[in-house]
Amino acid sequence: MNFQHLMPECDLFFGENTLSEVGRITKEWGDNILLVTGKNSMRELGFLDEALESIEKEGLRCTLYDEVEPNPRVDIVDQGIEVARKNGCDVIIALGGGSSIDTAKAIAVGVAHFPQSGGTIWSFVDTGDKGRKIGGITSKTLPIVAVTSTSGTGSHVTPFCVVTQVLTHEKIGFSSKYMFPKASVVDLRIVSKMSRSLTAATGIDVLTHATESFLGRGQHPSADLFSLKAINLVAENLPKVCENGGNMEARSNMAFADTLAGWTITLAGTILGHALVHPISGYYNSAHGAALSAITPYIWNFLIECNNQKILDKFVYIAQALGERVSLPGTKDKAKMAVNVLEALLEKIGLTKKLSDYGVDKSMIEILAKDALRYGIVDLDRTPVKVTLKDLIGILQESI
Ligand code: NDP
Ligand code: MN
Repeated sequence: MNFQHLMPECDLFFGENTLSEVGRITKEWGDNILLVTGKNSMRELGFLDEALESIEKEGLRCTLYDEVEPNPRVDIVDQGIEVARKNGCDVIIALGGGSSIDTAKAIAVGVAHFPQSGGTIWSFVDTGDKGRKIGGITSKTLPIVAVTSTSGTGSHVTPFCVVTQVLTHEKIGFSSKYMFPKASVVDLRIVSKMSRSLTAATGIDVLTHATESFLGRGQHPSADLFSLKAINLVAENLPKVCENGGNMEARSNMAFADTLAGWTITLAGTILGHALVHPISGYYNSAHGAALSAITPYIWNFLIECNNQKILDKFVYIAQALGERVSLPGTKDKAKMAVNVLEALLEKIGLTKKLSDYGVDKSMIEILAKDALRYGIVDLDRTPVKVTLKDLIGILQESI
């Protein structure tokens, strides 16, 4: 065995009512906060007030930036950088789902690295342009405290950030260990307020993180452990939380699965599915987990049809973790049992839409596939088989 386990330091506060601690937790990292959140949910549910109260109790200064929309936009990030700069913020709190956490990460980078106003976070994103120098995110990045409100992206425990350039429809991820939150808060009361459809879509995001990192070349013994446990937890608990959002034990298990899957993608990365899903959201503003649910069965079929023994064996382990009684060696038939369980799970949680239901038009397939090849290089490199433009087009045609 030969591996590195590089996991940045991150204090994790997990349980019911952990939000009330956010002021105390943040105080360790700064005393002038930019609080980044979305436009509605956290305010309407009363969690924004709770966070502000906890901050006030510690005597910390706080500026609210509540402009985040799903699929975080570069212009909203850039505007947030200016707000943080103007107010002299030295720590960023995210309160929300992956979109708020990613926006907070991007702002934390921008404030620290642009000496004057006018810089754009897009300069840190690899758009594949020749001669462009990317990188340069340093330890100057402001500390981030992430309060996650969904159980999906794992962004509260990853070094990744995904932003969208609205005019060009480019949705691209970038990464730095300095964007890893210094502290993360998972409050089960918050995630229990997700609607059934949000619960279902974000739950599938967890499943794809766990399965993609398990299937990928970034093979990693600790990640494999986390992945198989996360897959198992999703299979057992996602149907329960979709049926009864108030089932706190199942909510807790999904929130833990989300965290485990965040660690797996930190250690071993994502593959083909995440290369394909970002262009779809970039063009159609579709929810990340929902779009993943439309393509993942076809991605699994594609990988199984490659007839690679190692991949077939891995699908046997996935099928086992999903609750099937099946044993090695892997065959196509055994591997397909994993696809059958996934399809049954999607049906049970009400996620049966095809890409066309999210607005994707057949005429766009080639453009989406080309964007995936262009911007998803890292994910495609980690995919355990070589993927061509024709393969990507084929998967999208089936998913539509
Ligand atoms: P979002 O953060 O986009 O939130 C989706 C919607 O749900 C918003 O309208 C939000 O409301 C609402 N909402 C959030 N939490 C609750 C709650 N507890 N109760 C009721 N409503 C709620 O969803 P995701 O968490 O799925 O984040 C998706 C984003 O994360 C994508 O851009 C994706 O690419 C990215 N991502 C990042 C990863 C990373 O490691 N950095 C990994 C995987 C995905 P409001 O807008 O009012 O806040
Ligand atoms: Mn994801």
